[in-house]
Amino acid sequence: MARSNLDIFKIGVGPSSSHTLGPMLAAAAFLELLGSSIDKTKRIHCTLYGSLSLTGRGHLTDKAVLWGLSGLKPAALTRNLQQQVVNLSFVQHKLQLGGRHEIHFDYRKDLSFSKDFLPEHQNGMLLEAFDNSDSLLCAQTYFSTGGGFIKTKEQMQENAEGSEDFSDNFSISNTNAALRLCLDDTLNLAQLSLRYELQFHDEAYINEYCAQIWQVMQEAYHNGLKPDNEYLPGSLHLKRRAPSMLQVLNEKDDPFTVIDRVSLYAMAIAEENASGAKVVTAPTNGACGVVPAVMLYLKDFLKEFNAVTARDFLLTAMLIGSFYKNNATISGAEGGCQAEIGSASSMAAAAMATVMGADAFKACVAAEIAMEHHLGLTCDPVDGLVQIPCIERNAFGAVKAITAARIALKRQSLPRVSLDEVIKTMYLTGKDISFKYKETALGGLAELSLDN
Ligand code: SF4
Repeated sequence: MARSNLDIFKIGVGPSSSHTLGPMLAAAAFLELLGSSIDKTKRIHCTLYGSLSLTGRGHLTDKAVLWGLSGLKPAALTRNLQQQVVNLSFVQHKLQLGGRHEIHFDYRKDLSFSKDFLPEHQNGMLLEAFDNSDSLLCAQTYFSTGGGFIKTKEQMQENAEGSEDFSDNFSISNTNAALRLCLDDTLNLAQLSLRYELQFHDEAYINEYCAQIWQVMQEAYHNGLKPDNEYLPGSLHLKRRAPSMLQVLNEKDDPFTVIDRVSLYAMAIAEENASGAKVVTAPTNGACGVVPAVMLYLKDFLKEFNAVTARDFLLTAMLIGSFYKNNATISGAEGGCQAEIGSASSMAAAAMATVMGADAFKACVAAEIAMEHHLGLTCDPVDGLVQIPCIERNAFGAVKAITAARIALKRQSLPRVSLDEVIKTMYLTGKDISFKYKETALGGLAELSLDN
């Protein structure tokens, strides 16, 4: 079945869509599976596998599972609610299952970190519920496949067997198909994406969804400039830089201020994400600063940018993001950082080109250029925290997106590499990258010892 791409952008919780938001949603899905058996549950056990285990604490995976099991929803999260659940579990050893049924919870016994990797995917987790006589009530294995998307073991097997059917809806499987449709009906990518989404939702809903996403993106930027705590959580004791960057911005005399601004937008949002706050996955949390940084840049420097342009920007970006998600990966654990920051930069490049007047072909050229210059980028966050190199990497992804859009808009010759080809190349490169450099915190910068 063809499916809506709106959830390429989701309101989520930092610092990682695959390691925080995905496990939280998996825990919520498990509650749903348990249904009325919630009230018979005496004990819950969660096993985190592979990358979820190796970098789980740094990415707050353990806490995310508890938030999900407690019935919290990402859009309604607040610092207070998050902290209440953590205090209840860690200090009082209790969990309010689904927010209504209290059980005993022992962090050391009921949550296991296994170094084993499940064969289906790097980010696996098993949830089990037991009754009063310690009999198994319910069990399910989930995989967090990137961008906050989750699949059960059965769904992973269905996909591997190729049972997904795209025949009964209007589907757009890749760039080539998109360009053919655009050419036939003289559409740009935003118009094509809107037409695609209209088979799932009416236009008022799409407009409202995009407006809310844009609103949360802007809030994340403003919150990042005025944080409660000037230090980010975690072992690196990293000081936030966005607030002080704003103070030293010199708009009048410095010809490079635009670059500083774009970096500021991206880093303020990436720092919010690193603090575990509410952001928009775009398409992942690690890369959540790239798309909004380019949008904020256009809002501040392009006078034609308005609510409609913002919607068209997001529609274009989500269509490009769907090609990465469906034909390659948007998960750092599967493809390295090229799959996260690279995909975000590619999405933003096509979207910027589109709202600046590019036809579908030129917009795809912009997306191709942006990804081409992220190929091979590894994921090696220091101490497993989405901080170094992730925060600055958002700034680079945004600046590269703008460069790619501008190069594509000015190009007078035909490119030799297509977007479909570069997406496939990214995927194959990701497969070849050693697992040490795919969100395991076992190689690259993650091997450095940065003790204070
Ligand atoms: S290095 Fe890139 S992919 Fe890895 S956690 Fe950081 S932003 Fe995500």
